[in-house]
Amino acid sequence: MSKGGGVKVIVVGAGLAGSLLTVMLARRGLAVELIERRGDLRATAGSAGRSINLALSTRGIAALARIGLVDDVLAGTMPMAGRRMHALDGSETFQPYGQPGQVIHSVSRRLLNEALLNAAAAQANVTLRFDSRVDDVDLAGPAVIIDGARVEADLVVGADGIFSAVRDRMMRQGRFDYEQTYLEHGYKELEVGKTSAGGFALDPGALHIWPRGDYMLIALPNADRSFTMTLFARHSGVDSFEEAGEGAQATAWFAARFPDAAALLPDLAQQWSANPTSDLATIRCAPFHFGSTAVLIGDAAHAVVPFYGQGMNAAFESVEVFCDLLDAHGGDFAAALPAFTAARKEDADAIRQLALDNFVEMRAKVADPLFLLRRRLGRALAHVAGADFAPLYSMVTFSTLPYRSALQLGRAREAWIDGHAARLLANDDTASDDTISDAVVDALAAHLYAALLAGDVPPGVRAPATDA
Ligand code: FAD
Repeated sequence: MSKGGGVKVIVVGAGLAGSLLTVMLARRGLAVELIERRGDLRATAGSAGRSINLALSTRGIAALARIGLVDDVLAGTMPMAGRRMHALDGSETFQPYGQPGQVIHSVSRRLLNEALLNAAAAQANVTLRFDSRVDDVDLAGPAVIIDGARVEADLVVGADGIFSAVRDRMMRQGRFDYEQTYLEHGYKELEVGKTSAGGFALDPGALHIWPRGDYMLIALPNADRSFTMTLFARHSGVDSFEEAGEGAQATAWFAARFPDAAALLPDLAQQWSANPTSDLATIRCAPFHFGSTAVLIGDAAHAVVPFYGQGMNAAFESVEVFCDLLDAHGGDFAAALPAFTAARKEDADAIRQLALDNFVEMRAKVADPLFLLRRRLGRALAHVAGADFAPLYSMVTFSTLPYRSALQLGRAREAWIDGHAARLLANDDTASDDTISDAVVDALAAHLYAALLAGDVPPGVRAPATDA
């Protein structure tokens, strides 16, 4: 209970999910204490956590719309209409993400988190508590323990990220499934400043990718005309961070693999040693709740690798789902918490798988002619057949179709398109993996479209209408 006698919630972690949830719960009349181990980032310089910028898309935007923050947040973002691919020889190609007008937004983690914290602070029934690390949780109490002192509530929410203290305590109860998987790849961020003329050093309307098979470099634009590059590579072995080493060796390693990018990084050696090489991991657990007194949200429940640009978007969507269920159950935690696990677990597993698959796609397949053929066919079909044939990427990024449905549809379609494409290409002497002409793509798309019109489509290939 709160001091005023109402229902009190403790939210552990004032990152992206915790701050948004605090606003949404407070607006439902609950007293919320938001507890964060770091200082108030609105009053401090320095890191706002992992990754300087993030790709915000439809699911995240839908959640921000619930609290009226969309216009403010989008005003400070950089729209990205597609991927700009950089080959080793310096040539570039552009692959649109969706139909004309569909973009994802590069957003500053710090500015977004600050906007959410300001919205939370504006609520009279919110208490913000910084520099307070939750050391332990009494799940049944429920209460959190900070420096040996108990802070009590009616509900404790673990929005405390991938290394969640709330989840740690749940793991020590019975019948809690948990899986943490590290990738063999890590990442390092590098900053590309604006040009001497004050402009962008790369096309600011795209997410840039230097795919190199087993490793890759990406760059997202920032509103201050800089770019944040992220190198993803194995920690050790061939083409790894270990192989790159430090200093002049690292500079030479990088320049041999990304010559055009290296030219934009005059201080590469200094940044290389100053910026950490960080790990990437996924978390899968169940259930997301403990009885009627504790629940996990965001990365604490379902951390995914960043290759679909969906971790934060999924976290925000989880916050929406949780609040909708709370409303549907009249604020009854005993009913809403298990309903949340039931509603969200399968979608969390689906986006985990999609994000892992997309890593292979981004670093290797975007330079693979057959993959590109599939993409061109998918787009051509979406163009003629409309939103109910939206490609997988669009279903994940530009719609709120449940992740699990997007995954199932994506797989069914891929198999259908591949089957037709393989049969047609086998009969075409002129087509090889490297030379698939527009005429061949058009012929394949026409063939698939005719099959679509004739209803010659296996079950599970045609999507329900999305809100793309
Ligand atoms: P976090 O943002 O990690 O917040 C957790 C908070 O809890 C932190 O403030 C932490 O200090 C606090 N905390 C932790 N432990 C305690 C404790 N014991 N007591 C008190 N406070 C505590 N997602 C996208 O949607 N798009 C992208 O483009 C994207 N790019 C990414 C790139 C990289 C390199 C990485 C690593 C991730 C990326 N993500 C992206 C994922 C995204 O960062 C996360 O999904 C998102 O931050 C999850 O938010 P969260 O609030 O659940 O956790």
